[in-house]
Amino acid sequence: MDNALRELYQEVILDHSRHPRHYGAMEGASHKADGYNPLCGDRVTIYLKLGDDGRVADIAFEGKGCAISQASASMMTDLLKGRTREDAEKLMEGFLHLVKGEDAPGLSDDDRETLEVMGGISEFPMRVKCATLAWHTYKNAVEEGAT
Ligand code: ZN
Repeated sequence: MDNALRELYQEVILDHSRHPRHYGAMEGASHKADGYNPLCGDRVTIYLKLGDDGRVADIAFEGKGCAISQASASMMTDLLKGRTREDAEKLMEGFLHLVKGEDAPGLSDDDRETLEVMGGISEFPMRVKCATLAWHTYKNAVEEGAT
């Protein structure tokens, strides 16, 4: 990755960690889960409203931890709001490939561009769990977090 691109990605990550999107507890969430990354001490809570049509009607998060973990949660909420659960599943799968430095064939160009911002983390294997925490927590909320 060239330096200009790396700097741009750092900007985007810093912006999300300083001004997180969809931040705060949600009233009337249909699903909720807490996530913890013991390697770094990151905490994330994901709140969801799943619509009857299978879409993520609303999503929010709260958390504490390193910039990567919080920026990743912020980006994820931006990306998942309004998507179907199937779409969300594909995005997660693609993201998990990107952070390992692998190709992610299932993603649209737009989604890939958004997720690649975090893809640079593959150069820092110790931080991968920071970047994936929010996504695993989202999955737990959907599967086991009905309130
Ligand atoms: Zn972290």
